[in-house]
Amino acid sequence: MSYAVKEMFLTLQGEGVNAGRRAVFVRFAGCNLWSGREADRATAVCRFCDTDFVGTDGAGGGRFADAQALADAALEHWGASEADRFVVLTGGEPMLQVDDALVDALHARGFAVAMESNGTIPAHPRLDWVCISPKAGSEVVQRSGDELKLVWPQPGSDVAAMEDWDFAHFLIQPLDSAAAEANRDAAIALVLDRPKWRLSLQAHKLLGLR
Ligand code: SF4
Repeated sequence: MSYAVKEMFLTLQGEGVNAGRRAVFVRFAGCNLWSGREADRATAVCRFCDTDFVGTDGAGGGRFADAQALADAALEHWGASEADRFVVLTGGEPMLQVDDALVDALHARGFAVAMESNGTIPAHPRLDWVCISPKAGSEVVQRSGDELKLVWPQPGSDVAAMEDWDFAHFLIQPLDSAAAEANRDAAIALVLDRPKWRLSLQAHKLLGLR
């Protein structure tokens, strides 16, 4: 099968438990919770998206004919270093496209494969790191993994119920919006109130990274 990728680039992971780690980001085109068009935002399930995932026209993006071509491109972005190869599959919603062939092709090139998903589609079983970021109003079916990363505040999110889900790390990340300061204060207040959660900041934005 072919894969539609908005962009691909080498950077440092900015968020979550792996923050600061060198990584190739593969941003898949398309999401099942918003079309990506501003005209549809008000009626979308997910309305606070800060990511352009429409089309395949970003730097390093394109339509890759098969898993081998996509994995080769990821390796090219990584460069010569053979140590600790790390790729982050994100979107959009990556689980609309991630499949056996792609996970196997990335593993064959020595990558540890991480994925960041909204959790409405079961995660591929052979991923090395599963990060789920639930969106209020959607049905999260993937309730286990490595990190649960909840953007905050999100009216309608049942934080207490999520604490029973099977994740190694529970992260609260302030919503990046016009009310950023209030959102940060709300996230800090939640962590002070519920010690299961830890604060995650978007370090790549603070550092001017992609
Ligand atoms: S689920 Fe993620 S990619 Fe999809 S619209 Fe929401 S924030 Fe954007």
